[in-house]
Amino acid sequence: MQGLMMADQLRVAGVIEHAAKWHSDAEIVSRLPEGGLHRYTYADAHQRSKQLANALLKIGIANGDRVATIAWNTHRHFELYYGVAGIGAVCHTINPRLFPEQLVYIINHAEDRLLFFDLTFLPLVERLAPLCPTVEKWVLMAAAKHLPVGSELPGLCSYEDLLSAESPDYEWPMFDENTACSLCYTSGTTDQPKGVLYSHRSTLLHAMAISLPDALNCSALDVIMPVVPMFHVNAWGLPYAAPLNGAKLVLPGAGMDAASLYELFESEGVTFSAGVPTIWLGLLQFMREGKHKFSTLRRTVVGGSSCPPALMLAFEEELGVTIKHAWGMTETSPLGTAGHLKTKHQSLNSADSLAVRAKQGRAVFGVDMKIVGDNGHELPHDGVAFGDLLVRGPWVVADYFRSGTPGELTADGWFRTGDVATIDLDGFMQITDRSKDVIKSGGEWISSIDLENLAVAHPAVAEAAVIGVPSAKWSERPLLIVVRRPGMDVSAEDLLAFFKGKVAKFSEPDAVEFVEQLPHTATGKLLKTQLRKDFAGYSVA
Ligand code: AMP
Repeated sequence: MQGLMMADQLRVAGVIEHAAKWHSDAEIVSRLPEGGLHRYTYADAHQRSKQLANALLKIGIANGDRVATIAWNTHRHFELYYGVAGIGAVCHTINPRLFPEQLVYIINHAEDRLLFFDLTFLPLVERLAPLCPTVEKWVLMAAAKHLPVGSELPGLCSYEDLLSAESPDYEWPMFDENTACSLCYTSGTTDQPKGVLYSHRSTLLHAMAISLPDALNCSALDVIMPVVPMFHVNAWGLPYAAPLNGAKLVLPGAGMDAASLYELFESEGVTFSAGVPTIWLGLLQFMREGKHKFSTLRRTVVGGSSCPPALMLAFEEELGVTIKHAWGMTETSPLGTAGHLKTKHQSLNSADSLAVRAKQGRAVFGVDMKIVGDNGHELPHDGVAFGDLLVRGPWVVADYFRSGTPGELTADGWFRTGDVATIDLDGFMQITDRSKDVIKSGGEWISSIDLENLAVAHPAVAEAAVIGVPSAKWSERPLLIVVRRPGMDVSAEDLLAFFKGKVAKFSEPDAVEFVEQLPHTATGKLLKTQLRKDFAGYSVA
């Protein structure tokens, strides 16, 4: 028997329609890459998204066509999220930090028909254009006065010209909620990038789930500033969750440095933010140096890489900002787990509470997970056994876009994350490593993440990476690679001594090397494949 409820389809356009109707005066403030601050409301954003929809239809963009962006977090990028998906086309956000050859691969693989870019990326797109024949039109996301003279970009025009020629009269069409709405390629450190094609349904369910109190906890009382880029996994879904809840949205544009972020946090009254650990490490240093305080910022979500407990503690104790740890992937839209305590944890002392919150957290409703051993059998939730983390759910990838190979799922339909994790009795998952990064020493597995987290708790360490290097006796041993804090000195012996008593003896690093900087992927994660190359031939006694 079927239920007797309306068969309305979940569509991204429904979010902006809702915000424009019920939170019409809530603001979107963005710092523009071409300079200045732009301020308008959800009602204005809705009008302009519909103007964009009319412009796209006039160009001949049809259902399922890919429309690409290489852009910062701005109101125009926000309009593209809604205008492109709203007509049934696919908004393909491209990460400009990828290598140029990866960008060319991605654009050709997706067969993007239009490409919208910020002024900052003009030199980049001029290099890409001759190699990207599917792109019929390149659109500069600015007013016409910023158009370059003598550019040979095919069909070049300005975003503002495109919109001003159009009427805001447009009725968002109804279509199947499983229709694709956006596309994001993984950063792929070894293989070619792979496309994750989100649907309207997966995006809406994810946006509702991340809004929950024990997930990202979004509300109309919030002023939300995503410091995660809109070019990577849809800025963790915040450009959907903010209008869905009627929260004011602050978009920092190209200004991702600590001073520019702090200025916006203060001037716009930001209450909630989200970003990768590197952003918060940089911000902490800036706050300490200038003896700054936050007037309104109360909480932030940190994920994308392991959040060092020392960072959580410093934000809480010195700045009054709670850090919630979260885990996810491009393939999981991205939110999978969030680190909110349960009632039973309320009475823990601060060290024990921090130990729980430092884990990657509990499954958000909608995402199921398990850990399995080499034979594929499920491992116990005892916080000790570790194995491959598998996930499934309505916003987890089923197959990659045009992958040309059978899906990457297990026979019984779980997605292999490539992460190695434990799950404790209370359901808190803890990532111990990427499966490729685990250090196998004798019969023991050593978590490089644990050692890195500990190393950055040393006052003289700005950033740290741990890789396995060959050892005749143990097959692999941990090597700690450290970037010192500016103006601070520390010896290898001091650092090795720092680990004593804090980890099992067999996990202590064998050696320390100092470097000026560590290599990162396009999404800010440590690029361990590069480190392994840099330290090839290194071995410990
Ligand atoms: P990406 O698809 O580029 O967002 O990368 C996803 C990967 O980042 C995951 O598979 C993890 O290896 C890593 N990751 C994400 N969040 C965390 C976290 N909180 N702690 C440790 N690793 C994380």
